Amino acid sequence: MKTLRQTGLSDLPRVTQLGSISDMDLDAVTKFSALHAKPDGLILQYGTAGFRTKANCLDHVMYRMGLLAVLRSKQKKSTIGVMVTASHNPEEDNGVKLIDPLGEMLAPSWEEHATHLANAEEQDVQAVLTEICHQEAVTLQQKAMIIIGRDTRPSSEKLSLSVIDGVTALGGQYHDYGLVTTPQLHYLVCCRNTNGQYGKATVEGYYQKLSKAFVNLTKQTFSSGDEYRALKIDCASGIGALKLKEMECYLPRELSLHLFNDGTKGKLNYLCGADFVKSHQKLPVGIEVKPNERCCSFDGDADRIVYYYNDADGHFHLIDGDKIATLISSFLKELLLEVGENLKIGVVQTAYANGSSTQYLEEIMKVLFSKAAEMKIRQLAKEETDEKKRKAAIMLENVIDLINQTVGDAISDMLLVEAILALKGLSVQQWDAIYTDLPNRQLKVTVADRRVIDTTDAERRAVAPIGLQEAIDEVVKKYKFSRAFVRPSGTEDVVRVYAEADSQENADRLATEVSLAVFQLAGGIGERPKPGF
Ligand code: MG
Repeated sequence: MKTLRQTGLSDLPRVTQLGSISDMDLDAVTKFSALHAKPDGLILQYGTAGFRTKANCLDHVMYRMGLLAVLRSKQKKSTIGVMVTASHNPEEDNGVKLIDPLGEMLAPSWEEHATHLANAEEQDVQAVLTEICHQEAVTLQQKAMIIIGRDTRPSSEKLSLSVIDGVTALGGQYHDYGLVTTPQLHYLVCCRNTNGQYGKATVEGYYQKLSKAFVNLTKQTFSSGDEYRALKIDCASGIGALKLKEMECYLPRELSLHLFNDGTKGKLNYLCGADFVKSHQKLPVGIEVKPNERCCSFDGDADRIVYYYNDADGHFHLIDGDKIATLISSFLKELLLEVGENLKIGVVQTAYANGSSTQYLEEIMKVLFSKAAEMKIRQLAKEETDEKKRKAAIMLENVIDLINQTVGDAISDMLLVEAILALKGLSVQQWDAIYTDLPNRQLKVTVADRRVIDTTDAERRAVAPIGLQEAIDEVVKKYKFSRAFVRPSGTEDVVRVYAEADSQENADRLATEVSLAVFQLAGGIGERPKPGF
């Protein structure tokens, strides 16, 4: 199949200056649409991960997402990103997703347009495009700019050319960044739409921004040339390896990165990568580990990371999202408390309100990355006269720059974790132990019928009876480092209560209060729970 550039047709004058999709535009769209024909009967759905299926079924989708990105760009008067990747899926799959102006996911209403357009029969493509233009009040005179990136799958290059065909068929301009991680493309979109305020819109700009923040954050600790900073990274035989190699020269020598599954051999995501390690709870292939060595795995497009190690008995220990979130959010909370001021409002008090450190971290981030908070932090970092407060503000400033604010990012998360571990002098086992060994208390409440309790989120949240989860959230808020959940027994009319907090006394109190809520709201029988252990 020929692409537009190969046929030379991309040099033809385009006529999008006219007030509507002109006949000529549609002729070009239709003509090239035929070169990217949709397989009969194929129906796909644009989900949170975009489109994903076998690579050989995606050519028409890529072309059409090029078209759609142009319309979105015209509507938002902004650069839009198109990433060709299927993340942790097997190598023979592929996928595509659009990135909105500030580096965020595509708006839900446009996900529907994407699905509609991808599934349209050949003769209906024009009509669907026209309908989207009407519905979304797309101004066709507006210029369009699309940036494109892809992962290392063998099919990705060709598919990204199909995206470019779609972009040029509708008269859009594009910049192809080629091989990048998904979070890098999100970063680049945000940089372009904030006039470089978020960072320089190049891959080097990404390395410079993150590495500068990392170096500043760790400069006091990285003076001894400590060997213990060695980190083994399984790159899933994907893009992460390529990009880490490019980035290494920007990072301090003391952080010595050992790359495995670096894409020089082995299949993408096959028996390796974050998803494999997490779901199989074992080491990926191709990595050699000694006891207690700190290791991590990226996924195929480097937006997810898990840490792990093997202990002296050869047992595997996974440190996944929740523990990573706990490490980062505890660190942030300490800094926010040190800075004082108004920053801690809404952050410290909501500690573990949801019983999940991942959600808690998201809440902290929302506060931290608000324009007002960021400006305040940057101001304090410059002007604060109290030395301790100013230092904490400088640290926060660097954390803000180190975190990819647009999307989850394995490279950025890895650097932040490494910085915190270095600053705290924590080994991977200590990190693992700290947050598993919080004081806790388990209690049982006898109820008339255990079936009144229904839970979700891996049994961490109660959806029935009504009001129970809200009551638990309320009492959890009163304690530090606290969380609590309730689970019905599998065999008897008993509800098990689990509570943890910063001290045994508080864990006991919390467990009692949660038990009381269960007793009152879930039909407790017998004696009311009361304090005393
Ligand atoms: Mg991914």
